[in-house]
Amino acid sequence: SKQLQVELTAPNGHRYTQPLGLFINNEWHPSSNGGVITSINPSNEQAIATVEAASESDIDKAVKAARKALRDPSWSEMSGTDRGKLMRRLVQLIEENRETLATIEAWDNGKPYSVALNEDLVETSETLLYYAGYADKIFGQVIETTPAKFAYTVREPVGVCGQIIPWNYPLSMAAWKLGPALACGNTVVLKPAEQTPLSILFVATLIKKAGFPPGVINIVNGYGPVAGAALATHMDVDKVAFTGSAATAKQIMKLASSNLKSITLEAGGKSPLLVFNDADLDNAVEWAHIGIMSNQGQICTATSRILVQSDLYDKFVAAFRARVKSVSKVGDPFDAQTFQGPQVTKAQYDRIRSYVDIGKDEGATLEMGGERPTAANKGFFIEPTVFTGVSPTMRIFQEEVFGPFVVIGRFESEDKAVELANDTQYGLGAAVFTTDLTRAHRVARRIEAGMVWINSSNDSDWRIPFGGVKASGIGRELGEAGLAAYSNIKAIHVNMAVRSK
Ligand code: ADP
Repeated sequence: SKQLQVELTAPNGHRYTQPLGLFINNEWHPSSNGGVITSINPSNEQAIATVEAASESDIDKAVKAARKALRDPSWSEMSGTDRGKLMRRLVQLIEENRETLATIEAWDNGKPYSVALNEDLVETSETLLYYAGYADKIFGQVIETTPAKFAYTVREPVGVCGQIIPWNYPLSMAAWKLGPALACGNTVVLKPAEQTPLSILFVATLIKKAGFPPGVINIVNGYGPVAGAALATHMDVDKVAFTGSAATAKQIMKLASSNLKSITLEAGGKSPLLVFNDADLDNAVEWAHIGIMSNQGQICTATSRILVQSDLYDKFVAAFRARVKSVSKVGDPFDAQTFQGPQVTKAQYDRIRSYVDIGKDEGATLEMGGERPTAANKGFFIEPTVFTGVSPTMRIFQEEVFGPFVVIGRFESEDKAVELANDTQYGLGAAVFTTDLTRAHRVARRIEAGMVWINSSNDSDWRIPFGGVKASGIGRELGEAGLAAYSNIKAIHVNMAVRSK
């Protein structure tokens, strides 16, 4: 039979056992049609491991397991308190294995190891812990009508949840979706991104070890148009939650109409960052750099359109360039000096390079970057890229690039700043830099976005709702608001008197 695990030694010398199968019913399965995904190390373009890829019938098998688990008393009758304990046990196991998980993440995704360890893994654990705390705090209301009626609501799990995960934060994106789903008593079929299939399979071993009943959490790698589409279409899946590109979000919305699934979609953005003349320049530059250059620029909320008021414009551009030069060290994810690793895949690398050409063709000014760093002859490395001289009609001003690629424009008035900020199909994040208290809040209210950061950027937090308006998505994740998508409200009417209507 097929080998469903392999001993690996990562580039940092870390040895561990990498699972390769489809995790269904707490067991490891081969793909029913021999489908595989070979994951590539983006730093040197070499294969890391080959995992099983789910066929449509494997997705069906996982959905059946999740449906059975949903009805099994071992899960359906478990108290919220015990569900919370189970989630905390999983967090404890994740903590015990955090070096292994950060190693896999850096190897497979290309993000710096220290970032994976100190940011992604922390967010993964904290998000699961946060929702573990809610597991015994999911309850309904008593609603007063007339003395003859006793009415109350209960909150029930939505059911079998399909969760489709992107590659930019493989573990924390899974935690954002697993946390509220488990807290509310759902069962899950989770499909990781085919670009980064490895770390979550290691978590699957911990899920089993923690003691989750079989079928509660199923993890099936597979290709988007096959496994992802099968999950979104499946007639016995009650909900689909997705994070990824806007184009795929639109596909999923259509596929989910098969049985009118509940949907939450978190798609892309072209988030603006506004810097007013009265802003603290150093602070604005520091956050603007974090907002677009961290995680290799692969962040849905990346503040990829910087707009600076005229008096500060030249100073900002000079200081931003200097900041990129001094901080954005591109290189090996396992080198402690590295700020920026490779892009996740060749497709993403090529996409960014093509936007460099588009920007030049459109007549924008390439201030810096746009090339492969001279030291790298292998791997999907790209220099941090800055364009100025942009106008709102340009594609590089409107389209999401998803890389270390930023455009800097200028504005004169507050009205114009808001108009430019809102001149986009998207509405995910926005940042405002000003020391004028009333302007900060006024502009925050006028921007069409799901999240606004005042005097910071991409300063997200698992306790605070996250999501978009316009073409950036539907619904909210994180915070208390993130629970709404994972339970249905049932209203129960009791006739207290013997009466007819
Ligand atoms: P990107 O274009 O950046 O790779 P995608 O939005 O395509 O981002 O991918 C995000 C997730 O959506 C991945 O898990 C991917 O497999 C999945 N996916 C891609 N296409 C489809 C599809 N047609 N139906 C369902 N899921 C899909």
